[in-house]
Parts: sequence; C-alpha cells; structure tokens
Amino acid sequence: MIPDAPVDIDRIKGFLAADEALALYRHALAACAAGPVLEIGSYCGKSTVCLGLACQRQGSTLFAIDHHRGSEEHQPGEMFHDPELFDGGEAVVDSFREFRRNIRAAGLEQVVVPIVAGSEPAARHWNTSLGMVFIDGGHSLEAALADYRCWAPHIARGGILAIHDLFADARQGGQAPYAVYRMALASGLFEAVEQVASLGLLRRL
Ligand code: MG
Repeated sequence: MIPDAPVDIDRIKGFLAADEALALYRHALAACAAGPVLEIGSYCGKSTVCLGLACQRQGSTLFAIDHHRGSEEHQPGEMFHDPELFDGGEAVVDSFREFRRNIRAAGLEQVVVPIVAGSEPAARHWNTSLGMVFIDGGHSLEAALADYRCWAPHIARGGILAIHDLFADARQGGQAPYAVYRMALASGLFEAVEQVASLGLLRRL
C-alpha cells in the first residue's frame, strides 16, 4: 500500500497489480532527485496516481502521455474493451474524462501534466532530462520500440527506466515490452535493478 494515498488505487480502472503500483511509487520517490517523471500510457490514471503521489511528496512533476484513444486491445470487440470508456457520439474510445476524474480525486492536478498526444509527436521537441520514464503504452513491437527510442535518451544518469508487462514466456503475454527491456540491457546504458511481477526496473548508468 502507498502510505496516505487519498484514493483507493485498487478501484481505479487499469492493469497494474498492487505490488507493481507500490514499486512505481517507491522508485519514483527516489528518482525525483534526478529530474521529473514521465509515463507513456496513462489510460485511466492508475499508474499516474502512484507516480504522481511520489512526485507530489518530492515537489516534482509527472508528465503523463496518452492519446486516450485506447490501445489495440481496448477497441470495440477486443479483449479489454470497456463500454464505459466509449464515446458513442464520436464513436471512439475516450479514457481522458475518466483519467481527469481520477487525477482530480487524488488531488494531483497541480502535479500531473497530461499530454494528450501520441508518444512520438510528444517527443519531437522534448529537451528536458528525466529522473524516471515508465513505458506502458502500445504493446506492438513498433509502438514499444518507438517509446524506447523516443524517451530512453532523455533519462538522466542514475535515473530509472521502468517497463510494464514483461513476460519471459510468450504464453503469458506479448513479447514486445520484454524485447525492449532486453534491448535496453544489451545497450550497456542500463543495469537491471529489480523486477516486481511484470514490472522491470533499470537504472541509467
Ligand atoms: Mg501495462
């Protein structure tokens, strides 16, 4: 449990286990010293609240990138489609309304800076060194690689790269996040810190 959390994080829609949520909070608390935190793939704000509470406690900022149109698996007819997050008028997934509601309820409106855009356009003119980057966006190899290439170069020395949904066994889940994790390790720029369930944490050397 995250100490003194103002909301019940388990009740926020999302795909983050309780031990993963706590690990994000714990690493963000320390990583804030190296710079602000940035996440890719906010969805309804579950990880955003965990990272945001750490940033709030350290007087830092969390940039939360998501186009809020859902990943492949959130689209109508797909496995993780949620009708409550479907805007029938526009005929599109829209998780931004729910995201904002959760950020407001957690008292994080002055800490979290939502960037409602894809990862690549958001990165195009980015020039700020980051203490921690959490990659949990699209899980196609193309999307996961783009997130890594766009954001890993901005992580400060000593900063943290966190990647969600690592499955060494393909029967448990898609392999793109794990491929990116191995690529980061193989680059020689990162060392493994720990793995908590499917959340991998690396430190920028
Ligand atoms: Mg995930």
